[in-house]
Amino acid sequence: MRVLVVEDDVTLAAGLVEGLEREGFQVDHLGAAEPAEGALGLTAYDLAIVDIGLPGIDGLELIRRVRRRGVLTPVLILTARDGLDDRVVGLDVGGDDYLVKPFLLPELLARVRALIRRSRAAASLVLTVGALSLDVQRHSASLGGGELELTGREWDVLEQLALAVPRVVAKQKLADSLSQWDKEITPNAVEIYVSRLRAKLAGSGVGIRTVRGIGYRIEVEAADGPAR
Ligand code: CA
Repeated sequence: MRVLVVEDDVTLAAGLVEGLEREGFQVDHLGAAEPAEGALGLTAYDLAIVDIGLPGIDGLELIRRVRRRGVLTPVLILTARDGLDDRVVGLDVGGDDYLVKPFLLPELLARVRALIRRSRAAASLVLTVGALSLDVQRHSASLGGGELELTGREWDVLEQLALAVPRVVAKQKLADSLSQWDKEITPNAVEIYVSRLRAKLAGSGVGIRTVRGIGYRIEVEAADGPAR
């Protein structure tokens, strides 16, 4: 994982770089905003650590500029200032979290890990199969751009199928995922939810195919006929 540190305090920067490298991160360090703006536009960093008080353009303006350019890299803001304003403004311009100096390295590393985890989750938690899209965080589904209403059980089955694409999901595994709703769900009961989902997906180009003796697979249907 690659991290960019934008910090003009040479001693602090050296400590950050060393601490992050010891944790296995690949670290680049820049002492000013202008080169950092270029670097963030060119390199897909997993995270940027940005000091607000930089010579020339400050860290807030740097964040504002890269966000305006569509850079989504999570940003951890470092601020020496005590004012609440800086922190609020920092988050407003597109920072994701902040840390007030002085801080301990373990605290910084914990924030870094949390931010990277959060951004990865946010990036990967919309599952798409053809016209079907499942937002796992919001628990909402859409089909062809419109909202698709699902019961809790239907959602669970559909989520399992969408997570597995292009693999087949065993009927028993689907039954297990439903056990939080019903203690006595049998593999055969799964068929009921699959048939309800098929009805809701009808005509969308997305189908649930039965793989005999194994389970089900969700897929984009061929133009010449529905999945069976
Ligand atoms: Ca500084």
